[in-house]
Amino acid sequence: MAFLPFNITRQKRLKVVIVGGGYAGLAALTNLLQFAPDTEITLVDPQMQHLKITHLHETFRYPLADLLIPLTDIENRYGCRHIPASLCFDADALQDYQAKRQLVLNGEVVDFDYLIIATGCQNQENAHNEAGDLLSLYDFTVTGGADLLTAFLHRSDAPHPVISVVGGGATGIQFLFEIKQFLDRIRSKADLRLIHSGEHVLEQFPDGFAKYVEFRMHDLNIAFYPETYYCEQQVGKIVLAEKVTGKRFELPSDLSLLFLGKKQQNMFTANAFGQVLADQKPLHNIFVAGDCSYYQSLGSNTLTAQSAVRKGKLVARNVLRHAGFPGLLEPYLHHELGYVVSLGASDAVGWLVAEGNLITGLPALTIKEVVEAQYDLLLAGIDTYLV
Ligand SMILES: Cc1cc2nc3c(=O)[nH]c(=O)nc-3n(C[C@H](O)[C@H](O)[C@H](O)COP(=O)(O)OP(=O)(O)OC[C@H]3O[C@@H](n4cnc5c(N)ncnc54)[C@H](O)[C@@H]3O)c2cc1C
Repeated sequence: MAFLPFNITRQKRLKVVIVGGGYAGLAALTNLLQFAPDTEITLVDPQMQHLKITHLHETFRYPLADLLIPLTDIENRYGCRHIPASLCFDADALQDYQAKRQLVLNGEVVDFDYLIIATGCQNQENAHNEAGDLLSLYDFTVTGGADLLTAFLHRSDAPHPVISVVGGGATGIQFLFEIKQFLDRIRSKADLRLIHSGEHVLEQFPDGFAKYVEFRMHDLNIAFYPETYYCEQQVGKIVLAEKVTGKRFELPSDLSLLFLGKKQQNMFTANAFGQVLADQKPLHNIFVAGDCSYYQSLGSNTLTAQSAVRKGKLVARNVLRHAGFPGLLEPYLHHELGYVVSLGASDAVGWLVAEGNLITGLPALTIKEVVEAQYDLLLAGIDTYLV
């Protein structure tokens, strides 16, 4: 919530370039235009569509197309301009952008008053193999889950194909339960297992999450291999290693799906106001938000859509504050209000308000849906976020 006043009356129309049209970038865009509708915004993103990635595991139930918002729609809705390009940043380039307030994109010089970097965080896995029996999160951003799995099952000649999901973090677990329900719906005889390097799933969450999820996995006959590292998927088998001893072993497996989490690279450190730090000094006209940012502040730096949206909104307000008078910026203080991990279409586990406040089943699912609906409203230009 904006808690410092800001004066946005200016002589000239502000020019802002936002690099990255994900959660943070679009939150910044909608908030800039909410408070200063005449801002001239250029959105830079190599993709032609915004992906509502927090729903990606649901593509076993809904078409992937439902999660894609063409950036031409954003251009038309908000009167901004999208340039399909990928911008590279290094320390020298940032100093240069700050000094010149200029970028060169696809050979075109683009001037700006403020630059907002919101390029997200890459996923660990980008593995592929010739046999097509190894998939990663990226594959699901191109083809929906139902189509990918159906194609695999059609290709497979095994009477009881075995599918190995690797990674017991929030993404892996959400996919695991959707896959289980999808296989049940189509009456597939495929077996499902989870490989995880930790002792329990969802270790970054309160204990109750792991207990609930492992209990549900047991109920659904999903085999669990904790403290196990994935080595490789070979034809008809998966090669694994025990975490403690390093001993390698193999299990039958016809398909491996890797959900190994995010790479903490191309991260930008910022001060508490979201301004990028170079040599410990803020670049006053360059802000950063979302998964690619680490703020030196009391607020939470988790790699979540929740934080990405809050940081995006904050940098939009701080851009306007910086451009106005008296130029006092607002620090980032947002803390997570809760987190819900869905377990298929009708179950979920989460916490709300305080980490000890565990919720499961329909109440948890309802909260997740409300949060998702809030983001949809933000994209439609209606900001319902109170904090
Ligand atoms: C399956 C799944 C489920 C999730 N569920 C939840 C959830 O329930 N709740 C939650 O809070 N979080 C969830 N998350 C995490 C959440 O999606 C991320 O934290 C959020 O997307 C981060 O937003 P962002 O804007 O920083 O990055 P992104 O949304 O990843 O957007 C980055 C954008 O930048 C663009 N880009 C990248 N590099 C460049 C470049 N060099 N130049 C120009 N553009 C570039 C990309 O094309 C992309 O459009 C989930 C993630 C996944 C994968």
